[in-house]
Amino acid sequence: MPLHIDVLTLFPRMLDGFLAESILGKGIEGGLLTVKVHDVRDWATSKHKNADDRPFGGGAGMLMKPEPVFAAIEQLQTPGCRRIYLTPDGVPYSQKLAGELAKETHLILLSGHYEGIDQRIRDKIIDQEISIGDYVLTNGTLPAAVVIDALARLIPGVLGEEKSLTHESFTGKLLDFPQYTRPAEFCGMSVPDVLLSGDHAKIEEWRNARRIEKTRQVRPDLLK
Ligand code: SAM
Repeated sequence: MPLHIDVLTLFPRMLDGFLAESILGKGIEGGLLTVKVHDVRDWATSKHKNADDRPFGGGAGMLMKPEPVFAAIEQLQTPGCRRIYLTPDGVPYSQKLAGELAKETHLILLSGHYEGIDQRIRDKIIDQEISIGDYVLTNGTLPAAVVIDALARLIPGVLGEEKSLTHESFTGKLLDFPQYTRPAEFCGMSVPDVLLSGDHAKIEEWRNARRIEKTRQVRPDLLK
């Protein structure tokens, strides 16, 4: 069954280009996954379609109100779907988590805005909270796009060459190896001889050594 993703945001148009372009667009066209973007304001019942209000207890900024978000999720959810809130204080997104999500059949991704969302939404109607990194963005629409992009390429058939996933960074403990394409000589810089040798065992050995070297340099934590 293809994966269906509902995105709830106050900025639905931010995702127009992202969903139409490139590999993701092809996956959607090919029916391997479907993505529907919804404006949370469509579930707001007030005259001005307000989706935010001031926080109790004072403090700067506004919070997304519970009523429209509850109404939206209650309408969209299906039995067994995973309801996810994108938030900087969530669990870090990873290749492993992307792989898990790629096996689901229905995801709801809730993007916050302003100072975030009313805690009761998180307590009652959210199954998982995910952060895309240790920094704070203005809203969760780009994080939703990041989550979708990383999981979509793990759905069989979305990427043309499944082989290209096997040595990727974060698939195992090592980062990827350096790659080169034509021309073999460019501005006085040559492609390493071994890659032109045709000796597949030697190429494999060289690539593995580069992966270990790079991982030791920039992400020694992955080798522990
Ligand atoms: N007050 C929140 C805090 O300090 O944790 C930050 C709110 S942020 C300005 C507004 C919205 O952007 C959040 O509700 C969330 O949906 C989204 N967001 C910002 N940074 C994010 C991140 N690193 N990962 C996932 N979502 C993020």
